[in-house]
Parts: sequence; structure tokens; C-alpha cells
Amino acid sequence: MVEHWESLGLIKNKKIIEAFLKVPREKFILPEHREEAYADIPLPIIEEQTISQPTTVVMMLDFLDVKEDSKVLEIGAGSGYNAALLSKLTKNKIISVERIKKLADFARENLKTAGIENVEVTHGDGSKGYPKEAPYDRIIATCGSEKIPEAWKDQLKEGGLLVAPIGTVEQEMIVAIKVKGELKIEKKGAFRFVPLLKGKKK
Ligand code: SAH
Repeated sequence: MVEHWESLGLIKNKKIIEAFLKVPREKFILPEHREEAYADIPLPIIEEQTISQPTTVVMMLDFLDVKEDSKVLEIGAGSGYNAALLSKLTKNKIISVERIKKLADFARENLKTAGIENVEVTHGDGSKGYPKEAPYDRIIATCGSEKIPEAWKDQLKEGGLLVAPIGTVEQEMIVAIKVKGELKIEKKGAFRFVPLLKGKKK
């Protein structure tokens, strides 16, 4: 997979490839899918959610352009895998919000097993962001929102970046930079994600 990405020149930041090689993806998926851990496909986790396919994950991280001191907010912890990769890109804190309690627990457990310490998983509705720790240098959503929630814009620092799939059935990947309080949006093509749903679930 890494050779394929390199041959396509898909990933600009070498640190993302290093992070991908460091984090054991098999520790974030269900035992019955372990053999497919390194196939370039999304895999089901629990509660009808999925861990995105590796190519999508690394492309989003490349768009996010995380710096060594970036404070990052992730919407949709799921398995905790994306947060684990983020933890290799910044020394600062990563907050990952997950609306389903069982998945928040699943993510925490997986991150612990993988020995990752700079991620805080919180159970809540990520459409509201996470005001308690705001502002953020980077915000990344791993579920498809119909539109960009105001809270994400408000909680992003000036000059900060947002990467999120926006749309209902199919999504457009957007990369936005906050300039003078407003988001300047660039579109990066069509993707398919599980939906962002409002409210918390036990
Ligand atoms: N980043 C995850 C991908 C998980 S799939 C990984 O690496 O495995 C997207 C996740 O977003 C699901 O777990 C889903 O429950 C969660 N989600 C959906 N709506 C949400 C919301 N409003 N707030 C927080 N999480 C949400």
C-alpha cells in the first residue's frame, strides 16, 4: 500500500507514512477482521460503524497538515485508529469526540492497548465541537455532516484548518482555512462516510 501511495505521489508529508507504519491497525479492528487489517478497504467495527479505508485516512491527514504542536479535535473516534495516527503527528493533545458510548469505550481501550497516551476520547455530540478545550489548530471529522456546523468554525483558531466530508448520502471532502473569522473552502472530491448524527447514544 505504501509503495502504491508513493508511486502515485499521493502523500506529501512523509511523517504520515511513518505514522501508518508505526500504528498497528489490527489493534483497532474486530478479531474476525484481523486478516484484512492491511487491505485497502473500510471495515465494520461495532454499532454499525466503520473504520475508513487506509487510503482515505492518509489522504485526509495529508490535507490536515498537522504540525508538531497542533492541538487537534477529531469528530467521530470510532475505533480510535485515526486518533492514533494523529498522535504520531503532534506532541500536543488530541481530543476525539464520539457520540456512541460503546465506541468511545472501544476507542479508549484500543488506544491503551496500542500504548497511545496523548489522546482524550470524550463521549458527546461532536456537531457541537468540544468547547471545553477550544480553540483548535486543526479539526477533522470522520463522519459526513450535511453542512459545516457553526461550532467547528467558532472553535477553530485563526489560520487553522478543517478537513471534513460534507453531504448526506455521498460527501464532498472539504479543506477549509479560517481567515478573518470566515472559512475559505476548497473541495477535494467525492467520498463516502457514515453519517454524522445529532445527540449522544448510550
Ligand atoms: N475515526 C474513526 C472512524 C469512525 S466512523 C476510526 O478511525 O475508526 C465515524 C464515527 O463517527 C462513528 O463512530 C460514529 O458513531 C461517529 N459519529 C457520528 N456522528 C457523531 C457526532 N455527532 N459526534 C461524534 N461522533 C459521531
